[in-house]
Amino acid sequence: MVRADGAASAGDVGVSFAEKLARERRARLAAERLLDQKQRELFAANSQLSVHARRLSDQIVAQRQETEVLKGENTRVQTSLERATVEAALAQRRLWEAVETIEDGFAVFDPTGRLIAANGAYLDLFDGQGIALGAQYHEVIAALSDRVAGLSGEAVLDWRHEMAARLQSDDIVPEVVGLIDGRHIRFLDRRGAAGDLVSMALDITEAMRREAELEEARSKAEAASRAKSAFLANMSHEIRTPMNGVVGMAELLCDTSLTEEQRLFAETIKSSGEALLVIINDVLDYSKIEAEKLRLYPEPFDLERCLHEVMLLLQPLAREKGLKLIVDFDLFLPTRFVADPGRMRQILTNLIGNAVKFTGAGHVLARVVGFEAGDGRFDLHVTIEDTGIGIPPDLVEHIFGEFNQVEDQSNRKFEGTGLGLAITKQLVTLMGGTIWVDSEPGKGSCFGFRLPLAAAEGADPDGGPARPILLRRAVLIEEAQIGRDILVRQLESYGLSVICARSLAEAQAHAGEAFDVVFLDADGLAESPCPAIPGKGGTVAPVLLLSSDGEVAGDWPGATAVLRKPVLRSQLLKVLQDLSYPRVPELEAKVPAAPPPAPREARAMRVLAAEDNRTNQLVFRKMVGGCDIELVFAGNGREAVELWRSGAPDMIFMDISMPEMDGREAARAIRAEEAARGGPRVPIVALTAHAMDGDEVSILAAGIDHYLTKPLKKAAILARIAEFCPPEARPAVPDGEEG
Ligand code: ADP
Repeated sequence: MVRADGAASAGDVGVSFAEKLARERRARLAAERLLDQKQRELFAANSQLSVHARRLSDQIVAQRQETEVLKGENTRVQTSLERATVEAALAQRRLWEAVETIEDGFAVFDPTGRLIAANGAYLDLFDGQGIALGAQYHEVIAALSDRVAGLSGEAVLDWRHEMAARLQSDDIVPEVVGLIDGRHIRFLDRRGAAGDLVSMALDITEAMRREAELEEARSKAEAASRAKSAFLANMSHEIRTPMNGVVGMAELLCDTSLTEEQRLFAETIKSSGEALLVIINDVLDYSKIEAEKLRLYPEPFDLERCLHEVMLLLQPLAREKGLKLIVDFDLFLPTRFVADPGRMRQILTNLIGNAVKFTGAGHVLARVVGFEAGDGRFDLHVTIEDTGIGIPPDLVEHIFGEFNQVEDQSNRKFEGTGLGLAITKQLVTLMGGTIWVDSEPGKGSCFGFRLPLAAAEGADPDGGPARPILLRRAVLIEEAQIGRDILVRQLESYGLSVICARSLAEAQAHAGEAFDVVFLDADGLAESPCPAIPGKGGTVAPVLLLSSDGEVAGDWPGATAVLRKPVLRSQLLKVLQDLSYPRVPELEAKVPAAPPPAPREARAMRVLAAEDNRTNQLVFRKMVGGCDIELVFAGNGREAVELWRSGAPDMIFMDISMPEMDGREAARAIRAEEAARGGPRVPIVALTAHAMDGDEVSILAAGIDHYLTKPLKKAAILARIAEFCPPEARPAVPDGEEG
């Protein structure tokens, strides 16, 4: 490259000035162009630089913003962390405050058995024994064993071993420990998921003290309840004994000649006394059930007969009110079942008695249906339906409670203790059944109970071999539809076809036909000749009268028999069989007559009566006053045994509750001596005022043959005397009084 100024000086020699100028101009132009170019390049570089600079600046701004955001986040995280740490510390503090506050011990052992946490209550258990955090479980147990009451020697090691061994189980059994300071601690231990052992030591001293108090209170209450039962048993005796005197004397008084007014008084005394005894029995029964002392004594019995007996008992009251009593016993059911007959009778008496009591007009219908449930067992449904006053719906459940009656005390029209249904419900429940009632006020009620009962095996002991009934056609004259339908069904089940008539006149319309038997409802009919309805072979059909009291008004010439309503199926069957097989008079005449009884020696029957109560002695003496007997009294059991030895009575009436030696002991002593001597067995009849359950069993177990409950009934006593009067003695009971 040639410097511009150097070239000019060198060319001064040959080059003109103009050239020099041109050259200079060119050089200047070139320089200007270069400058221009450089300036453009510089501009371009500048503008590029400024773009870069702007970008960089943008980046810096963005980065700064990002940094700001990150910084904010960082601060936030840091704040949350700090807050979480504070909260965790607070929670932990609260937890420990809570754990410290509870009065029970709380501790945690790590999986190696090291104590890692424990509250004060837990550590207090080992007060002064150096147990602190870090101690091993076996050290804790060892320290505890020194404080356990009643542990010494070998037992200490055994106990420690047991406490350690129980931890091996998944479900650790709680352990109650009695300490020497009198406290009782229950240890509850549980394994945590990470293998920790959480241990609670609950102080149950107070709970145990309360439990002991409760136990004591319970045994006191049980003792009081036993005392109450015993008191009731005694009360039963104490009340029933004088009541026996009252009722017995009133009965005797009724037998004497009295003015009408005097008779009314005497009869009122008697019936009030009897009513009082019924109430006492109710109260006694209820308290027995309450004390869970009531036991059932199941035995085979005839349910249908039992139902009829109850109906017959209530018949006089029903007749007075003009009520019809009807029994509908499912024809396809057996009649004999196994249950406690006394209690069954009580249930039926309560329900049917109520139905009669609360019904002013209409009928009371007892219906028994059922189905076989397998294994000789039957599911029986017994319903007692009446057309009485009914029960308001809101009181239906209430009446099964004790002392609950629909009427309140202020407007009572009906007598009763309000215990009958409570007892009935309990008895049905005790027998495994359920009881219910449907009722509509003003229309009537239907009480029902369901009982699972086993049918009694073997035939009815009273029933002979069944003979087929040979009668085919019957006419039934009865006004009421309901009783009629049931009898028709029964007759049809025996193979008879039955024509029904509502009146004698209607029956006469069938006089052109021949019937084997006529049933005539005699209730409400005055005496009249029996309808002469033609029978077989030109005879008149036999007439069976149906009557609610077993007797018919006046004379019914031509009637064959009277059947008591409601008609018992076995009775009906017997009458139909008798009619099917009439006895042939000539055959009977040929049967040799029984030899006349051997003449009796002229000695009176000897009767010993053991009875400590003077009034009862008097009542007894009066009741047997008309008998031809030699009567001796013993004042207690010991005297009875002595008089039996010296007097050889033909029978003994034995009171059960007597001082010195009671009736059972006396009977046992007599039976033991009889067995030792090999002598005859004297009949012993217990007289008992006791109604506590199980008495019947213990009485019969003492070797007593029968028992009569007080108040005594003259007829029952005379019946027993007549039964046991020996052949060598004069007849003891006057004819017609043998019950
Ligand atoms: P009570 O000794 O009063 O008869 P119950 O326990 O046998 O006691 O009956 C309780 C009450 O239930 C009765 O007082 C009566 O109000 C009502 N009751 C029971 N049976 C009947 C019935 N067949 N018809 C109407 N009310 C009845």
